[in-house]
Amino acid sequence: MQIGTKNSSDFGVSFGPSLRLGVLGGGQLGRMMIQSAVDFDVRVEVMDPSSEAPCRHLTPRFVQGDLQNAADVVSFGTGLDVITIEIEHVSVDGLRQLEAQGVRVIPKPDHLAIIQDKGKQKAFFAENDIPTAPFELVSGAAHVQQMGLPIVQKMRKGGYDGKGVVVLKSKADLNKAFDVPSVLEHAVDIEKELSVIVARNSSGEIRCFPVVESVFDPVANLVDYLIAPAAITPQQSQDAENLARRIADAMDFEGLLAVEFFLNREGNLLVNEIAPRTHNSGHHTIEANRTSQFEQHLRAVLDLPLGSTEALFPASAMVNLVGSSDAHGTPIYSGLDAALNAPGIHPHLYGKSSVKPFRKMGHVTITGQSRTEVVKSVMQIREQLAVNGKV
Ligand code: ADP
Repeated sequence: MQIGTKNSSDFGVSFGPSLRLGVLGGGQLGRMMIQSAVDFDVRVEVMDPSSEAPCRHLTPRFVQGDLQNAADVVSFGTGLDVITIEIEHVSVDGLRQLEAQGVRVIPKPDHLAIIQDKGKQKAFFAENDIPTAPFELVSGAAHVQQMGLPIVQKMRKGGYDGKGVVVLKSKADLNKAFDVPSVLEHAVDIEKELSVIVARNSSGEIRCFPVVESVFDPVANLVDYLIAPAAITPQQSQDAENLARRIADAMDFEGLLAVEFFLNREGNLLVNEIAPRTHNSGHHTIEANRTSQFEQHLRAVLDLPLGSTEALFPASAMVNLVGSSDAHGTPIYSGLDAALNAPGIHPHLYGKSSVKPFRKMGHVTITGQSRTEVVKSVMQIREQLAVNGKV
């Protein structure tokens, strides 16, 4: 069998155990992708800077290398059939060289080049009439008052999980400003944070997962839990899905794209940012939807028909399991017995060899018959489960 819905002549690799897929990044996202790839009998090879990466023992070929170094990326990817990512901070130049060698690279290097730079992302939204918070680009700290205060300053490159984002409310905060090329954004009065994961293959086939709602922990500045479907109007859901499709189509995107939105207090959707990969806000789909985001990513990467994204339960939620505020050393997971004693609870521990305060160590998916039921389970699980450490 040949891979590919339409362009199999461009991508004429035999679909079978000899197919080699490389993943740049060997964290939890790569790990869950490997779980899915087993069902497709695809051999996944992994490169990560850490010798202790969660994928380390789950791949027939693990290469320790610098994801941002073109030579490392080329050396890892040479001879592979397909290469994809689980983190966007990788060498675009290295991926371009692999593409020139005939390796299928998804997402496309040109798309990564836009998405890696929050300034280029915002410019793309503006050029394509995608609603987003008003912004300006500045070269460093000297210009952060250009739009007035309060302002949100974001490093153009290298930020993740809220690192590289600072809210400057008044002059007293100015010493917190980053002195690097940045995006300044008006602070949005946020009602809800939402996301839509959209997949698009090279035939232009496109599918969205239902909108999810993220609830943040203000102390850790990480998603505390997320819930699907989001409690928004059917029109707002439709609008969010349409925006996600419009972005994927406007880019001619191939692969999986997570689109993060703010719903402001006036009820308007603003696109915050996009990530060209599987995303924390799609983890529940492993248990809660007909096709998981990881399988969907594989299907898009291998140019197979996309799977149904339909939800299997009226409600589902995902709780991140993060290290306790004073946790260090080898992780110790407590409370699993009690948590697993309820129906519809599924744990995913990421296999990290050491825990740190607020480090993402795993997640738990909860499926149920109503939003009230799953929120109740979320609260229970947060009481029951903890990740401490042993030094
Ligand atoms: P990262 O790429 O590190 O996840 P984000 O751009 O998603 O960074 O910002 C992290 C968080 O900061 C958001 O989830 C949101 O809570 C807050 N934030 C970001 N931009 C704005 C904004 N313009 N107005 C208000 N809050 C914001």
